[in-house]
Amino acid sequence: MAQEGAAQKAPGARRGTALITGAASGIGKATAIRLAKDGWNVHICDVDKASVKSFREDVPNVTAWMCDVSDPDQVKDVISGVMAQHGQLDVLINNAGIAGCTASIEDVPQDDWRQTIDVNINGAFYFLREAVPGMKQRRGGAIINIASTAALFGYPQRTAYAASKWAMIGMTKTLAMELGPFNIRVNAVCPGSVAGPRIDGVIERDAERRGISAAEVRRIYEGQVSMRKFVTVEDIAAMCAFLCSSDAALVSGQVIAVDGHTESL
Ligand code: NAD
Repeated sequence: MAQEGAAQKAPGARRGTALITGAASGIGKATAIRLAKDGWNVHICDVDKASVKSFREDVPNVTAWMCDVSDPDQVKDVISGVMAQHGQLDVLINNAGIAGCTASIEDVPQDDWRQTIDVNINGAFYFLREAVPGMKQRRGGAIINIASTAALFGYPQRTAYAASKWAMIGMTKTLAMELGPFNIRVNAVCPGSVAGPRIDGVIERDAERRGISAAEVRRIYEGQVSMRKFVTVEDIAAMCAFLCSSDAALVSGQVIAVDGHTESL
């Protein structure tokens, strides 16, 4: 049964099957580890060969598929593979995402725009299109779309990224209405700046530009977060774990920021 909570689970029983896209690293990987620990059969897919290889070594209890989410045929193959193994998919987490370029709108290259939209939003659409019919048929499922706080505030110089993430919210709200009658819940999670190499790089570049120390820039950035610290990949994973569980049985159509509370980017 989908979305089985710990309280109803027989000892050793699995909760169901979850698939996380773009999950060989970062938030997706942390979420895969968390869901596997919570008793889900977890599958991930990713386009990056080296990351998939090291994921398979680090997390042997999770099945990892090679897949470019922007290719509808590859998406079809992954869903067929998961269905062949488990007969159903209970949880889909659309996590694969790229940042796109940082540029003023007039300087955004055509290819960069297209690729950002292709991966971040078209990829999610392809997975939804393949996964939803099975969920509808057995009347149950949980879908989580990983958006961003960029979808709450906008993000100067990152128009394609912000546009793709706002589209994620539109898709979440719409599908929650469309799929609720089939007992399928659809929510969006908006991570704020996540502690790790990406934000470290941004801080270092900004420090160089401003001519001040990286520690000082970090203090400025953390000062913009009410909780005075960046979220971690485990914080995002914990929210996803809650949203797929039966504890969230009546939570749908929600856009949940996990960002330590920020009011702008
Ligand atoms: P990450 O770069 O660590 O992970 C993203 C993964 O997606 C990578 O493993 C990458 O190989 C994979 N990927 C990229 N293109 C793909 C494609 N075409 N097909 C399949 N996989 C592909 O990044 P992350 O920080 O873990 O980001 C995960 C999600 O969270 C993204 O959607 C991102 O936009 C969102 N997010 C991240 C932050 C942050 O600060 N890290 C903040 C807000 C939102």
